[in-house]
Amino acid sequence: MVDPRAALRPSAAVREERLWQRHLEMAKLGATSKGGVNRQALSVEDAAARRLLTGWAAARGFAVSTDAIGNLFVRYDGSEPSAEPVLTGSHMDSQPTGGRFDGIYGVLAGFEVLEAFADAGLRPRRPLELVAWMNEEGSRFQPGAMGSAVYAGSLALDRALAAKDRAGVSVADALSQTLAAAPASRRPGFGGPIAAYVEAHIEQGPRLEAAGRTIGVVTGIQGQRRYTVDVVGEEAHAGTTPRAARKDALSAAVAIVSALEQLMADPADTVRFTVGRFEVQPGSPNTVPGRVHFTIDFRHPDTAVLAERGDRIADVAARHAKGCTVTVTEISRVAPTVFAPQVIDLVRDCATQLGYQHMDMPSGAGHDAMHVARIAPSGMIFVPCWRGISHNEAENATPADLAAGARVLAEALASLANA
Ligand SMILES: [Zn+2]
Repeated sequence: MVDPRAALRPSAAVREERLWQRHLEMAKLGATSKGGVNRQALSVEDAAARRLLTGWAAARGFAVSTDAIGNLFVRYDGSEPSAEPVLTGSHMDSQPTGGRFDGIYGVLAGFEVLEAFADAGLRPRRPLELVAWMNEEGSRFQPGAMGSAVYAGSLALDRALAAKDRAGVSVADALSQTLAAAPASRRPGFGGPIAAYVEAHIEQGPRLEAAGRTIGVVTGIQGQRRYTVDVVGEEAHAGTTPRAARKDALSAAVAIVSALEQLMADPADTVRFTVGRFEVQPGSPNTVPGRVHFTIDFRHPDTAVLAERGDRIADVAARHAKGCTVTVTEISRVAPTVFAPQVIDLVRDCATQLGYQHMDMPSGAGHDAMHVARIAPSGMIFVPCWRGISHNEAENATPADLAAGARVLAEALASLANA
């Protein structure tokens, strides 16, 4: 027997083909020759993406607005217009050699949910608002997740507007050009109040695909500590200087990195430790290196592990200095985000009810949700991406998985908006 209420569920009105076609349409804006996208924040391609989304919203009668940092909002009214809205969304900007799904999936899944509500004639109690956060990637303007950080009050508006790209163009100037090319009515203020926030995103890692699961129930976002390490020895002739007389900065730096890998050893493979930049000076084949500069990116979901191992880095480095001078400088520290238990449970329940295989997992990458979680109960939904590849033009995902995530999002938003 068919449950008559089934037809009233918004997930039943999510249309896989429509959602997929919208991805293909968006992927034309900033399309690269290798099948990816280059749609950096506040570029002409970003403006084109804003116009496309705004046009789709206008065709459905959804109101569009933008705030003073360029976050773009699309609203589906609830039966109680003054009730605190439920937000969903992600970002439309990409890396310079980015893929077709990072960020834009969460925006298009959210828009699909708004359309599903409209198609099914559903009117939740609270308004639903889709938001495309400005400059999540941080490849053109730093810091990344800029729009959500300003919205949540973790970054001052004037500081964000003053940030400049490598060509010297400020966020303020690029934003006014973008809004001239993609106009939207201005909304006052930041930060809600909002009832809840749920963000859908491709996983950007290989775990869901490897485990054969469709939905990742995201429990939080791991914290991150970043450091620079400077090793200073003494330049000397490669042919004449005996070992005992050398202060070889490279030899010391190699020993330090090796010792740090021991410090970060972790049978569970949860620690993320990366030396991504390693510069040797003077870089001459017949000179003992006098200086090495390298970076450390250390991430973990647990505050205690971040504190305990991160605090030992300087000491481990000093003990392997081999007569050189070592300076360890911490350049940033971001605490882990723990999502709201009620939102985590809701996402898991919705996935179960829809019959999708799912698993709980932390997010390895940073997302706008880490800022929004400071001001509202928040959570995220992950869907698999091919081989876990992301920040890459080869990034891929299946229409069925994208639609599955949108269906879970639809049910989660329905529940939150009727609460
Ligand atoms: Zn993203």
